[in-house]
Amino acid sequence: MLPSILKINNKFALYNFELMSEIKECLVCKTTSNDTPVTKFYYKNSHFYICSQHIPVLIHNPHELVGMLPDADKLPKG
Ligand SMILES: [Zn+2]
Repeated sequence: MLPSILKINNKFALYNFELMSEIKECLVCKTTSNDTPVTKFYYKNSHFYICSQHIPVLIHNPHELVGMLPDADKLPKG
């Protein structure tokens, strides 16, 4: 069932639908934003979500994200 606002403002409705339908889960542990703080980051013309527990991994040991993040082995260690 499409929201009635679709008839009023198509762009806004599509944006809203995307926000509501996209599952915000950590790329590492799959924990969702319902259970833990999850932040969004942009990389390679895409975006990913990562939880507060795994942000340090992204910063300090990005090679541990090989298989979860494209070219993770090429990211610099912080
Ligand atoms: Zn996580």
